[in-house]
Amino acid sequence: MTDRILFWHRKDLRIVDNVGLAAAREHGPAVTGVFCLDPGILQADDVAPARVKYMLGCLEALQQDYQKAGSELLILQGKPEQKLPELARALDAKICYWNRDVEPYAKARDKAVYEALKEPGVEVHARWDQLLHAPGEIRSGKGDPYTVYGPFKKNWFGQAKTKPVETLAGCEGLSAAEREQAVGAGATELPSLKDLGFRWDAKLPLAPGSAAAYEQLSNFCGGQQTILGYDDQRNFPAVVGTSFLSAAFKFGVLGIRDVWQRTMEAYGASEADEARRGVIVWQQELAWREFYQHAMYFFPDLAKGPYRELWQKFPWENNEGLFQAWCEGRTGYPIVDAAMRQLNATGWMHNRCRMIVASFLTKDLIIDWRWGEKYFMQKLVDGDLSANNGGWQWSASSGMDPKPLRIFNPYTQAKKFDKEAKYIRHWVPELKSADVGSIISGKLGALERVDYPEAIVVHNDRQREFKAIYASLKN
Ligand SMILES: Cc1cc2nc3c(=O)[nH]c(=O)nc-3n(C[C@H](O)[C@H](O)[C@H](O)COP(=O)(O)OP(=O)(O)OC[C@H]3O[C@@H](n4cnc5c(N)ncnc54)[C@H](O)[C@@H]3O)c2cc1C
Repeated sequence: MTDRILFWHRKDLRIVDNVGLAAAREHGPAVTGVFCLDPGILQADDVAPARVKYMLGCLEALQQDYQKAGSELLILQGKPEQKLPELARALDAKICYWNRDVEPYAKARDKAVYEALKEPGVEVHARWDQLLHAPGEIRSGKGDPYTVYGPFKKNWFGQAKTKPVETLAGCEGLSAAEREQAVGAGATELPSLKDLGFRWDAKLPLAPGSAAAYEQLSNFCGGQQTILGYDDQRNFPAVVGTSFLSAAFKFGVLGIRDVWQRTMEAYGASEADEARRGVIVWQQELAWREFYQHAMYFFPDLAKGPYRELWQKFPWENNEGLFQAWCEGRTGYPIVDAAMRQLNATGWMHNRCRMIVASFLTKDLIIDWRWGEKYFMQKLVDGDLSANNGGWQWSASSGMDPKPLRIFNPYTQAKKFDKEAKYIRHWVPELKSADVGSIISGKLGALERVDYPEAIVVHNDRQREFKAIYASLKN
């Protein structure tokens, strides 16, 4: 009988191009997948129902993929440091593989599981998988991790990228007796969203599972070739100009090496400079993703508060009423309200709009960015600590951005990026018959505002107030 090998899935819900899983399979054929529904994550106060729904869909698809590979994905529910050793004992597994993570919670959890697996004598093998370059691979000339995106990106693009790894296949699954032992150790049916205490009725922005994500990737890079127009289209929220793959990246249903390869194929297949530029700009987004993950790995305190010390003392006003209006999309600023309503209704928001609403919350409402960061996590299907924290600290000016005071004017943003008010009118139907010019300049007449709130603050006044607070803090 061959040794049973456990592979613990976390943010890598796929069997294709999965570095740790391919290494486990190389070790031997008796690979059993495990996923642990961790109350430390699922019972936290920043869980988004849309995200859990997407994750459950991905797990269901992964179970089917395991079956095709001749094995199974077991579902556990409880603390991983208790559940995994119990399962290892029941199956007499002496080897466990997983892919590493950058988040402080995951790092502490993995350490606890590693310790707990010592007693049943399980050898742990951890790999990096979710990034093209693992933390530590991209360092400044002095050997330090980068704290500025520009030089990180330059270095990141200059490094060779590795090829995709083998898909899991030809496994030896559990015998009927072993399956019973696994059930005795807590292996359970995949629960429903309702079983877990959540509800999400709206359609997800991306169908769950690896196959759906790869199809979307193929359309983006091949079929519909949105990637070629990405540089031109990505900033307009009324247009389908981005990949909508963020949830797939978050849960690792796409192999990042596969993704890179597809982008290079799109680049190679196109001769127009503009199209090639689209590919490079999209690759730069992948670099942003990796920059924020490296930052979280090396500077875990980012998860707790501002990177720049000055901002520790920032006297946020934190008005609850204004925050509520922002959350519900009732600020009286059409582009802000449209974006917040898109988030609440779909669990996703366009990147341009994420920047607009984050600037508005921090610079116009003078509310602590951590309130917005948490609200986003409670709603986003792609909610991810590193990217979300990075985006919020960038918008609040408290993070790793050399430009200290970035303030977005919501009207200028609407004029530039939604000049026909298509996006606004879609999400704020009260303004359907209002004049486009009035909507985007904020000069709505009394009749046009009948069902729509007055602006809750005056942008120009608040911008001055914010700058004054910042100046006094600096002095
Ligand atoms: C305040 C704020 C909060 C954000 N919160 C998140 C979050 O929780 N999760 C998340 O994945 N992204 C977050 N982003 C980044 C970005 O808005 C989303 O990744 C993007 O809108 C997802 O849509 P897409 O997949 O169509 O992106 P595309 O434009 O197609 O980009 C491709 C991929 O690159 C990555 N990416 C793109 N932009 C960024 C970025 N600025 N930072 C890090 N990665 C990026 C994502 O994985 C994305 O799926 C945030 C941005 C801001 C300003």
